[in-house]
Amino acid sequence: MELITILNRCHRFPGFVYQHAHLGADKKTIEVAVRPRKGSTAVCSRCHLPAPGYDQLAERRFEFIPLWGFLVFLLYTMRRVDCRRCGVVAVEEVPWGDGKRTLTKAYMLFLARWARRLSWKETAEAFRTSWDKVFDAVEHVVTFGLEHRVLGQIDAIGVDEIQYAKGHKYLTLVYQIDLDVTRLLWVGRERTIESFRGFFTVIGDELASKIVFVCSDMWEPYLKVIREKCSEALHILDRFHIVAKMNKALDEVRAGESRRMATEGRVPVLRKSRWLLLKREENLKTEQRFRLRDLLRYNLKTVRAYLLKEAFQQLWDYNSPAWAGKFLDDWCRQVMRSRIEPMKMIARSLRQHRELILNYFRAQKLLSSGVVEGLNNKAKVAMRKSYGFRTFRSAGHRCKTGAEQGMIAKPPRV
Ligand SMILES: [Zn+2]
Repeated sequence: MELITILNRCHRFPGFVYQHAHLGADKKTIEVAVRPRKGSTAVCSRCHLPAPGYDQLAERRFEFIPLWGFLVFLLYTMRRVDCRRCGVVAVEEVPWGDGKRTLTKAYMLFLARWARRLSWKETAEAFRTSWDKVFDAVEHVVTFGLEHRVLGQIDAIGVDEIQYAKGHKYLTLVYQIDLDVTRLLWVGRERTIESFRGFFTVIGDELASKIVFVCSDMWEPYLKVIREKCSEALHILDRFHIVAKMNKALDEVRAGESRRMATEGRVPVLRKSRWLLLKREENLKTEQRFRLRDLLRYNLKTVRAYLLKEAFQQLWDYNSPAWAGKFLDDWCRQVMRSRIEPMKMIARSLRQHRELILNYFRAQKLLSSGVVEGLNNKAKVAMRKSYGFRTFRSAGHRCKTGAEQGMIAKPPRV
């Protein structure tokens, strides 16, 4: 059986024929030449209708699903059409590709399916491709899905930013986090007001107005768009983001103090203390717990910052928004007197977002604490799982298992 026969079985398009398959010059790729069927007309990529030919462009390579360890490429010379309807010379549309993307639709679908089971990074590694290509695939499939399916009611969304390309670029991801459906709804480049607004443009005002619950971090452009588009929804700040920020501040204090102690030639008591301080105490092994106790006896900035961070955890135990608010105010006041600059930054930011933080407790009154916690966990698990980035794990918290989340009942509509 020949490769062409197999391709004709699984990936056949009227108007095009597979000519022949051969090994590429590097002997690691299979290249399959594709050409238009004789007499077939090219389709204009603007109006999606047949149009008379104009000329040809250079050959393009479309990556197909890899086979037996070989990368597979379809080689095709794109035609241009002189479309009278559109009044321009436009490049043709090919049924296996999507605009300028270099992956075939089939390969993008393949990667996107795996990317739901593995993290994006793991998917890239497993199929020897790049994170960018997996991202491209997910973006294509999600966008296609959003354009071609009727979205039902969306009760809850979570929005998150992720950093990629060595920290220079951001994406905005929007997840549906209803208790019975968790799915990636939308992917946008950048983390600007415009990019997040793009999501609401796609779903339309009617659906947006019915969203009852939004979970986000403290990124100002997101907060602004949420105020603008989901003013009726209960907006809570993802508590894991808050904890992560605090851990980052604590780590900064520790690193700074540790360096200072080294230059002053003092006993390096902070050496290898990073995880002791970032992990929750209940997650430490017995021996680590002893070391932590020992460390806490020192009068260090790091220790004071650690105690402040630990004290803050108590916030989440409150049921009443009023008492939670009082606790938050007291905590911030204490921190502002601490002379620990990174922690003071956190306190300032918490003060600034006080009302949103207290929404967490207001939501618990409306929904029940299990539900709110469930949505919060769901946002975290769905989001963190996608990236395969280590940054989030280093923030010192771990995802809850599916079983733990499964105990939560469906929220009532508010
Ligand atoms: Zn056209």
